[in-house]
Amino acid sequence: MFATRFAPSPTGRLHRGHAFSALTAHAAARHVGGRFVLRIEDIDATRCRPEFEAAIRDDLAWLGLDWEQPVRRQSEHLADYHAALDSLIARGLTYRCFRTRKEIAQDIAGAPHGAMETWRGAPLPADEEAARLAAGESFAWRLSLDAAERALVGDLSFVEEGEGPEGEHGIIPIDPTLGGDVVLARKDVGVAYHLAVVVDDALQGISHVIRGRDLFQATHVQRRLQALLNLPAPVYRHHRLLLGADGRRYAKRDRAETLAELRAGGMTPEALRRELGFD
Ligand code: GLU
Repeated sequence: MFATRFAPSPTGRLHRGHAFSALTAHAAARHVGGRFVLRIEDIDATRCRPEFEAAIRDDLAWLGLDWEQPVRRQSEHLADYHAALDSLIARGLTYRCFRTRKEIAQDIAGAPHGAMETWRGAPLPADEEAARLAAGESFAWRLSLDAAERALVGDLSFVEEGEGPEGEHGIIPIDPTLGGDVVLARKDVGVAYHLAVVVDDALQGISHVIRGRDLFQATHVQRRLQALLNLPAPVYRHHRLLLGADGRRYAKRDRAETLAELRAGGMTPEALRRELGFD
């Protein structure tokens, strides 16, 4: 069955761009009599706030959207993500990384074609790792691209029914380097975004991921994780990003464009829906 989702992180108020994304996914589901799921991606307890979550529900209801109940809140399902992480760890697909982002940035700056998006690290020698663990140093679990390459047979791809930033459409081969050795879990945040998303998309039976084009590159990472975890691959429909008057895309920093501000300024949901192309 067709199922799609809107998956905001409650780190700020929703803006026009979110409204466009939610309306696009909702309309696609309604068009074929499919499911529309709201998922609250609140695993990053350092950035997410309950008042933003309540505001998301208010804003979406104001827009005229309805969604399946109960709403999945990632913070209530950490055991599911840890089970996925444990299976990757048990299969030797991960390693502990003790480096800070700053140290990695320095490492990259010293390499001729280095970039965070393709960075690869390596596990420490066992005795050094044991010493650092004994000293209580914090670390992140990273996916080892080298190990992933050995574990995966055949070429991976995903189906893009929308468009990527360069007009990519159709069957998109996975770039084996993209994403680098991504972080799967950190001490302060627990489980990282990519892992939680692929677990949830599978558990919630999401057939179509409809979201902004800014997440197109992330799909390479997510498709690889799906394959490693033996999860089904949804179809992807990345949509265009709305641009503000200054030609930049909307972001949480643009307070004036939040749905709350638009509403306070007298905008009706009907007018906003029309403006965004939904009647
Ligand atoms: N939670 C992510 C965000 O707010 C979106 C995740 C997704 O659609 O895959 O940017």
